Amino acid sequence: VAARLREIVGPEHVVDDADVIDSFARDWTGRFHGRASLVVRPKDTGEVAAVLRVLHDAGVPVVPQGGNTGLVGGGVPMEGEVVLTLRRLDQLGELEPLTAQVTAGAGVTLAQLSAHARAAGRDFAIDHGGRDAATVGGMIATNSGGIHAVRYGTTRAQVVGVEAVLADGSVVGSLAGLVKDTAGYDLASLLVGSEGTLAVITRARLRLVPRPAFHATALLALRDGEAALHAFATLRAQVPSLHAAEAVFGDGLELAAERLGVEVPVGGGGGERGVHVLVEAASHIDPLDELAAALDEIDADGVAFAQDARQRERLWALREGISEAIAAHGIPHKLDVAVPVPVLPAFAGAVRALVARERPGARTVLFGHLGDGNLHVNVLGLDPADDDLDGAVLWCATDHGGTISAEHGIGRAKRRWLSLVRSEAEIAAMRQIKRALDPAAILNPGAVLPE
Ligand SMILES: Cc1cc2nc3c(=O)[nH]c(=O)nc-3n(C[C@H](O)[C@H](O)[C@H](O)COP(=O)(O)OP(=O)(O)OC[C@H]3O[C@@H](n4cnc5c(N)ncnc54)[C@H](O)[C@@H]3O)c2cc1C
Repeated sequence: VAARLREIVGPEHVVDDADVIDSFARDWTGRFHGRASLVVRPKDTGEVAAVLRVLHDAGVPVVPQGGNTGLVGGGVPMEGEVVLTLRRLDQLGELEPLTAQVTAGAGVTLAQLSAHARAAGRDFAIDHGGRDAATVGGMIATNSGGIHAVRYGTTRAQVVGVEAVLADGSVVGSLAGLVKDTAGYDLASLLVGSEGTLAVITRARLRLVPRPAFHATALLALRDGEAALHAFATLRAQVPSLHAAEAVFGDGLELAAERLGVEVPVGGGGGERGVHVLVEAASHIDPLDELAAALDEIDADGVAFAQDARQRERLWALREGISEAIAAHGIPHKLDVAVPVPVLPAFAGAVRALVARERPGARTVLFGHLGDGNLHVNVLGLDPADDDLDGAVLWCATDHGGTISAEHGIGRAKRRWLSLVRSEAEIAAMRQIKRALDPAAILNPGAVLPE
C-alpha cells in the first residue's frame, strides 16, 4: 500500500519517520495520544481520490486531519491508521464580488482565509483562538462556532457548497456557488459536522460577510451569572451591531492574566461567583455610542472600555489566553457543552458543585460563548482516563436541556455518551448513512458513533 501511495503523491509525501508521525498522533490538549502507520500528504482532489481508492481496496483505515486543533481527539489516529493530512490543499480562489463568495481548499487555515477576505474588503464570519492552524476542512467537519456565532451562526451558515471524496474515491459535490439549489439531498449539509467519518472534504465554496470598519470593545465585571444574563439581554436588545459576547466564570481571567504577566483591567467580578463578560460591537459606522448607552444601563461592578486598537487586542488576548493558561497547569478534561441561554448560570453552578463533590481535588475553569449558551467546562487534576466524571458533566448538561457537544464535535472523547442526546432511532439512521457512504468503514473508524 505504501508503495502505491508513493506513486500517487510522490515519495516525499508519504511519511514513515516515527518522530514525525508521532506529532500527527497527539492532540492539542495532550489527552489523546495514539499511533499512526503512515502520514500521507496529497496536494489536490485528484490525489486524495487516488489515495482513498488504494486504501479502500486494501481495507486500510484512514483518519483525515487538518490543523489538528480539534479538542475531542477526532483527528487523532489511535490504532495505527493512515493519517491523511489535507494541509497541502491550501489554494484560495479570487473573491467573486457579485455573490461575495470564495472557493477555498480544505487545508487553508482560518487565519489565511480571514486575511484573504479582508484584503478584498470582506470578512469570514467564523473566528476563534485556533485560527493560525485550524483549517477550512476541519472547521466544516466539526461545524466550528467561535466568537461571532452570536451574530452570524456557525460554519454551517457560511457553507454554500462542498467538494468531497467518498471512501471509494468518487468525487462528489458542487462549487458553483448557487445559493438556491434544492435538487435532492444536500450532501454539503450532511458533511458539515461529519468529523471525517463520511467523506474527505477537499474544497468549499464559502460565503463572506461585510467587513466592519469600526469596533467597540469592553470588559465587564459582574457579580454573578444572573447579572451576566441581564447584561446580555440588554446588549441583545440595544446593540444591533453586537459582534461577540464572551463569558469567563470565576477566576478564569485571572489565570490568563497571570500567564500573560498582566493585570485584569477591571475590578470586581472575581471570586467563585463573579463573571467577566467581554463584549464587542462592530459595524460600518462607529458603534461606540450604541454600546456605551447599553452599558450605562447595566449594573456592572466595573467596566473597562478599549480606547484604541492596542487595548482591544489586550482584552482579546486575555480571553483567548485562557486555553493556554489552563494547559500550562496540566492536561485538562475539556467538555464543550451548550445549554439554553436562560439556564446557563444554573448549569455553571451545578457543574462546579458536581466536580467539587465527585473529585474534591480537581479545579474547574468555566468560560465560553455567552450568547450561544455555550460553556467550555475545563477540569484540571484528573487522570486522563477518568471518563466517569466526563459522563457526569455531560449528563448534567442534558439534564439542563442542553447538548453534550456545542462546537467541538463528538470525536473519540464523547462517543460513549451520544445516546444522551440522540435517540436509538437517530443513532440507527446515522449508522445507515455511514454504511451507505463508507461501506468498508475505513473513514475515521473510532469517531462519533458509539461502538
Ligand atoms: C486555542 C483553541 C481555541 C479554539 N476555539 C474554538 C472555538 O472558539 N470554536 C470552535 O468551534 N472550535 C475551537 N477550537 C477547536 C478547533 O480549532 C476546531 O474544532 C477546528 O474546527 C478544527 O479544525 P482543524 O483543521 O484543526 O481540524 P482537525 O483537528 O485536524 O480535525 C478535526 C476533525 O475534523 C476531521 N477533518 C479535518 N479535516 C477534514 C477534511 N478535510 N475532511 C473531512 N474531515 C476532516 C478530522 O478527522 C477530525 O474528526 C479551538 C482550538 C484551539 C486549539
